[in-house]
Amino acid sequence: MPAYVVGHKIPDSDSIASAIALSYLKTSIGEPTVPARLGELSPETLFLLERFGFEQPELKTSYAGEEIYIVDHSDKVQGPDDIDEATILGIIDHHKLGDITTSTPLEIWVRPVGCTNTIIKMMYDFHNVAIPKEIAGLMMGAILSDTVIFKSPTCTTADIKCVEALADIAGIEDYKAFGMEMFTVKSAVLGTPIRDLVLRDFKDFNMGGKKVGIGQLEVLDLSIFDAMKDDLQADIATLKAEGERHSVMLLLTDIMKEGSEVLVVSDDNDLTLNAYGKATTDGKVWLDGVLSRKKQVVPPLQDSLA
Ligand code: MG
Ligand code: MG
Ligand code: MG
Repeated sequence: MPAYVVGHKIPDSDSIASAIALSYLKTSIGEPTVPARLGELSPETLFLLERFGFEQPELKTSYAGEEIYIVDHSDKVQGPDDIDEATILGIIDHHKLGDITTSTPLEIWVRPVGCTNTIIKMMYDFHNVAIPKEIAGLMMGAILSDTVIFKSPTCTTADIKCVEALADIAGIEDYKAFGMEMFTVKSAVLGTPIRDLVLRDFKDFNMGGKKVGIGQLEVLDLSIFDAMKDDLQADIATLKAEGERHSVMLLLTDIMKEGSEVLVVSDDNDLTLNAYGKATTDGKVWLDGVLSRKKQVVPPLQDSLA
């Protein structure tokens, strides 16, 4: 039976590209492995798959009795619900270390870089396996997405070098233009149901025993949200109640102005004041320079709620 590679719930381009790229690598070195996904894909990820000629990985939510590689997360709440009944062969990730544990030895590649695919590129190099052109394109797209075309503070020299090498393999001459094309697809939010937007890139966290949900929408121009902000705000309040969450935040990130307007609903009125030194006005606050949920939003919030 093949092993599976699976990324986090509400899969993003990194989770999907990681599943495809790692499956190919593992299979190449004699471990039959197939990519899988925990949910529906975003327009950005569908764009990448179509561009480089891939089918969507198998939708699979239960892994009891299976062998799996976990990519792009190590927090239990973000992985398969029955992960405790699976055998975890490895974790490849670029987030804070989460709470997934195992009862058997495993392979771990965790690095503080901008994207899981940067680590997977290192794994290809380690095993001396050539990356096929199409997989290189997919990996490059994932790194440009996760690093917001190198603007995110999570971006490292390793990420930039990887994109240059992968673009070369994929035959993409102007990778920044490719990145802009991808973010244009990502910015097409008009006409999408409000709940779909709120959940498009949404993660739950356990912070000091409190369930906190944080969504993020990255666009080229924040004004696209002007007419829908009230609806987004109302919907995150509903989502908070439905999931018995302590707080829900939605980051509306402007990748050109390089900052995020954050919509907030919380049991704690001083949530953003305590975490970021800025209070909300009408449930909103602008955080200048904030592009990264994992590096700039989660850690201060985690500290203030601990
Ligand atoms: Mg991810
Ligand atoms: Mg990632
Ligand atoms: Mg992201």
